[in-house]
Amino acid sequence: MATKPPSLYLHDLSWPELKEMLPEIKVAIIPVGSTEQHGPNGAFDFDTSGSREFSKKLGERLYPKALVTPPVMFGMSNHHIHFPGTITLRASTFIDTLMDIVWSLSQHGIKRFFFANGHGGNSPALTIVVNRVKQEMGFKAAWATVPYDFVNDVSAKHVKSPTWGHACEIETSVMMHLHPQSVKKDALAKGDVPDEVVKRRGTPVHEGRFFDETTKNGCLGDARLATPEIGRELVEAGLDRVAAYLEEFISE
Ligand SMILES: [Zn+2]
Repeated sequence: MATKPPSLYLHDLSWPELKEMLPEIKVAIIPVGSTEQHGPNGAFDFDTSGSREFSKKLGERLYPKALVTPPVMFGMSNHHIHFPGTITLRASTFIDTLMDIVWSLSQHGIKRFFFANGHGGNSPALTIVVNRVKQEMGFKAAWATVPYDFVNDVSAKHVKSPTWGHACEIETSVMMHLHPQSVKKDALAKGDVPDEVVKRRGTPVHEGRFFDETTKNGCLGDARLATPEIGRELVEAGLDRVAAYLEEFISE
């Protein structure tokens, strides 16, 4: 091989290029998204493009130790189904899909897996998957919603809304930085959140709900407050911290 590929995003590689690099690859980063409404503020690809772009940058930080796979673009979005366009997998299909991806990569000698999640609704299934990978295959697997789970302190500085976490000032800022073409800049809106939802914040109870019961226009927070500068700060802090975590994850 004359020159090494400049990055390790699987869809950009040929198999001889990948084969040459495999001995140096210590972890697969698997972006996991959704095809889900994000209010008037964003396109259906928010979670998929966000997790993919964050993962590519993460892969560059860890080069050549991380292979970044193409994103899983359908996730667990049952609760969004009342909004037109939402496509969801059933939990069993989603879990089987992720297990099949891990099995396939393991056949090429990869033994550590990090799911770079872009959608909160995927969380319960991802916890099942990382445990099954460990218990049934004996491989290390982990997931986090990125960059958000790693940057709560940075988010706290910029959040202005009582309810946030979906197409809000934080997620929209991140997308303005990572994939601005997905942001509907002329339609940015505040979440239309009923008072009883605001009052119920912080309850320890998990009640089954459709998302249009939580917000009538499909978003939380106030995306009009989003800026690419806030997004850059969240992403850069997230990259530093997730990369540091993964360096430890692959060192053992
Ligand atoms: Zn999202």
